[in-house]
Amino acid sequence: MADHRHLLVTGGSRGIGRATALRLAADGFDVSFCYRSDVAAADTLALELAGLGVRSFHEPCDVADHGAAEAFVKRAEDELGPVDALVNSAGIIRDAPMVSLAPQDWHAVIDTNLTGTFTFCRALAFAFAKRRRGVIVNMSSVVGVHGNVAQANYAAAKAGIHGLSLTLAKELARFDVRVNVVAPGFIETDMVAGLSDKVRAKALASVGLGRFGRPEEVAELVAFLVSDRAAYITGQILQIDGGIVL
Ligand code: NAP
Repeated sequence: MADHRHLLVTGGSRGIGRATALRLAADGFDVSFCYRSDVAAADTLALELAGLGVRSFHEPCDVADHGAAEAFVKRAEDELGPVDALVNSAGIIRDAPMVSLAPQDWHAVIDTNLTGTFTFCRALAFAFAKRRRGVIVNMSSVVGVHGNVAQANYAAAKAGIHGLSLTLAKELARFDVRVNVVAPGFIETDMVAGLSDKVRAKALASVGLGRFGRPEEVAELVAFLVSDRAAYITGQILQIDGGIVL
């Protein structure tokens, strides 16, 4: 993908998505990104991207909305040209033990994490196949591999992303389009900042390296997977978790 220069990242305004936008901008990519509601965070990132000398496009878009995802892709491509790399990072948690998990919290997490990944993959997969060019990285979680107490909705959504991604990788391989999954452990973002002290301490005790990861460390793996250095890697779920034992 030596000449390729348009990254689209969902949930790009904060956390891992934001770190990914900045990391790939440093590699020279123009960046389009969507977010749900935090306009200030999005505008701040746009300024930082401009400071790195790349073009960017952003607007709010609920990833779970098929029409909105297609419209976003069209506007992003009108602004920055064809998308070459898609990173699905938008995600939420709504934790509760399964016996008390509210149906709306089940649906919200499945809609944003799983359906939100499907909408953008679907919006771009055909164009990637037709152009025989493109790479997809979907953000999952170690919870999608191992399960975790009080995260049945999140674990189901992330495990669903694995099935979706491994299938898409098979479907698109003959078009030279790669699809991989990154499954982080605990990473220092707003998502983890919201954990109670008790949950945080328990989480930390489960990490072999004895610390949470940084968004930039995840972005480094994404940058590798997007690049030609990973040209022979597809259909993989790569955990980046500091040696976690859940
Ligand atoms: P974060 O800091 O909370 O950021 C989430 C981003 O997703 C924000 O930009 C947010 O936009 C956006 N978003 C949320 N719902 C959306 C929707 N319906 N439509 C469009 N955008 C939406 O999260 P993070 O920690 O960076 O997590 C990024 C990804 O990594 C997620 O898929 C998460 O499940 C996964 N992950 C995170 C960790 C971790 O420890 N942090 C571990 C494993 C996996 P607004 O700001 O506008 O709400």
